[in-house]
Amino acid sequence: MAGLVVNAESKSRVALRVENLRVAYHTSRGPVRAVEGVGFQLRAGERLGLVGESGSGKSTTAMALMRLIRPPGRIEAGRVELDELDLLALSEEKMRGVRFSRISLIPQGVMNSLNPVMRVGAQIADTIEAHEERPGREALQERVKSLLALVELDPATARMYPHELSGGMKQRIGMAIAVALRPEVIIADEPTSALDVVVQKRVMDTLFRVQEELDAAVILVGHDMGLMAQCVDRIGVMYAGRLAELGPVHSLLEEPLHPYTRMLVESLPSLERKGVFRGIPGLPPSLLEPPLGCPFHPRCPQVMDRCADRVPALEVVAAERRAACHLHPEVS
Ligand code: SF4
Repeated sequence: MAGLVVNAESKSRVALRVENLRVAYHTSRGPVRAVEGVGFQLRAGERLGLVGESGSGKSTTAMALMRLIRPPGRIEAGRVELDELDLLALSEEKMRGVRFSRISLIPQGVMNSLNPVMRVGAQIADTIEAHEERPGREALQERVKSLLALVELDPATARMYPHELSGGMKQRIGMAIAVALRPEVIIADEPTSALDVVVQKRVMDTLFRVQEELDAAVILVGHDMGLMAQCVDRIGVMYAGRLAELGPVHSLLEEPLHPYTRMLVESLPSLERKGVFRGIPGLPPSLLEPPLGCPFHPRCPQVMDRCADRVPALEVVAAERRAACHLHPEVS
């Protein structure tokens, strides 16, 4: 019972607060506004899913939280608060100290981001050595061994090279690197996209067991609403660089409050529809020249006059629910 109380208290503490995050890629044809005014709070111990089609801004948001946007991309505005720290205001040197130790990333395609000519144990040790002064050879080896155990790999894996590992094993090495310094926030960007369904499930189970052991919060970035639905506490639905809807997973799936979310949910296969896939007509807009007003209005079956000239703000429209849609009177 006491454990339940502690858990409830820790879940109500805010681990990460994101406000008005804006990222643009400056191209010869003009700025591509990849993330426009994204804001949310992540509670300690929570699993938040960021879901959306390709180009919706979810991976750019993840990279921006880590301050890993590279030119021609630029973080144009916003605050990313990790407890007392505004990550966007830190010097690059201070941010290097925070990265991996307090906020960490399992990047998209981690399988290809491992160094092919270095044993994987040494790659895990490298992350620790980059943050801690002289951890000591034996202590370091022990740490690597216990990290491998944490992600359910045999200690002998430390001596192997990436090409000797299966996709699922490489993904676990990526996870071990990401959690080596026990971060408070773990961002996992499409962590299982290249794996088959069975391995996917096992890797996700490991990720969440590690999360619980570390008492960390997780942001899970992905395009698969069905996978998200099974894994997270809350979902943020992104469209054209903005959050369209944010809410607890069950109520969001049962009663979507944004037409785009509703269409995403309806496109999930179900027993009643017997495998008939219902896609969303039309294409996501160009972020170089996004439509005026609500970015979803060219595809929205419920479009109204005002939708074409007023961008709907993400507002609270029900308990724990926020939506950016003019169908709700709370939205300006
Ligand atoms: Fe559709 Fe208008 Fe709502 Fe946009 S604001 S989702 S166009 S109803």
